[in-house]
Amino acid sequence: MNDILQKELLGSGADIVGFADLKGFLDADIAHLHRSISIGVCRNLNEKTVQLLADLQKKAVKILKTEGCKYLCIPPDSDRIINTFVSKLYPMFTHKIAATSAGIGWIGRNGLLVNPTHGPRLSLATVLTDAPLKNGAPIEDCLCGDCRMCIDHCPSGAITGNDWSRKRPFVELVRLSYCSAHKKKSKAVNGKPNCGLCITVCPYGRKIITDEKT
Ligand code: SF4
Ligand code: SF4
Repeated sequence: MNDILQKELLGSGADIVGFADLKGFLDADIAHLHRSISIGVCRNLNEKTVQLLADLQKKAVKILKTEGCKYLCIPPDSDRIINTFVSKLYPMFTHKIAATSAGIGWIGRNGLLVNPTHGPRLSLATVLTDAPLKNGAPIEDCLCGDCRMCIDHCPSGAITGNDWSRKRPFVELVRLSYCSAHKKKSKAVNGKPNCGLCITVCPYGRKIITDEKT
């Protein structure tokens, strides 16, 4: 079933697809759906990204249903809607756990999933299922190496310089209060709470953006 899902999703606009077994990482309420399908789409599609991810999840579900498998779609973080059934699961699940378990990337010093090809520029959605999928090989440690670009360019000093690993998944990477304070200040000056320098400067995936612009 991996091949069918991968072919359908990559052919429909996904930039990357990965499979994992999340046994031990999920809350008891959803532990029976411990296989995951991670779907990644480059963020530079902007507002179309969320819609594309939702469409891709539907395509995966169609295949899972045909095979008689159970499923649960977790929407991308940017499309989290409160007061829905799935919103109760948001605190119990992160797309990053599924993606690192599938071997799609590691959690970089900027706190984002970093993929060797696309860098920290992927938006993620996940479908949990009981389908008998083959798993990718998890990435266990931060692969940022000697790079400190995001740390050196962060205007608020939010990035701690700590390294993520699957053994220490909750180590503090970004001081969120520093980052939010900087974005608030930027909103007061520019009207928008923008920053994202820690994404822009990351050397992973920069080539793709350059290529797309030329
Ligand atoms: S968004 Fe800006 S302030 Fe926040 S961590 Fe990234 S570089 Fe730092
Ligand atoms: S900029 Fe460098 S240190 Fe920061 S996430 Fe990217 S590779 Fe890692």
